[in-house]
Amino acid sequence: MLVLERRPHLGGNARSERESTTGIEVHRHGSHVFHTSNEQVWQYVNRFTEFTSYRHTVWATAGGAVYSLSVNLGTICAHAGRRLAPRRRGR
Ligand SMILES: Cc1cc2nc3c(=O)[nH]c(=O)nc-3n(C[C@H](O)[C@H](O)[C@H](O)COP(=O)(O)OP(=O)(O)OC[C@H]3O[C@@H](n4cnc5c(N)ncnc54)[C@H](O)[C@@H]3O)c2cc1C
Repeated sequence: MLVLERRPHLGGNARSERESTTGIEVHRHGSHVFHTSNEQVWQYVNRFTEFTSYRHTVWATAGGAVYSLSVNLGTICAHAGRRLAPRRRGR
């Protein structure tokens, strides 16, 4: 296979590199998060590189309270100060 690349490195904008003095992984073109729920895809991409484990958590503040995002039933319960449950279809 022939790969042509005009930059001095492969990987395009998703490339990262180790900073030589600290060993810290630096994303020169902005950080990139890879996610898949497909085990076959995960096995495939792991043939080419190692991934750094990362957990993405987003929080929002509103009215002096802190809520987790994205919005789910727990977020609505916290905001409403009530214990709500999903309504089952057909009932
Ligand atoms: C700041 C930022 C954050 C991002 N975060 C995420 C993320 O978290 N998760 C995610 O999935 N995606 C993210 N993306 C999107 C992701 O970067 C792109 O979808 C992905 O890089 C596209 O890959 P690509 O190989 O198609 O193109 P590119 O990464 O752009 O690579 C194309 C390569 O082709 C080379 N090239 C172009 N023209 C020629 C030519 N004529 N001859 C030789 N070589 C050439 C370029 O130099 C480049 O290296 C982010 C993008 C940015 C900018």
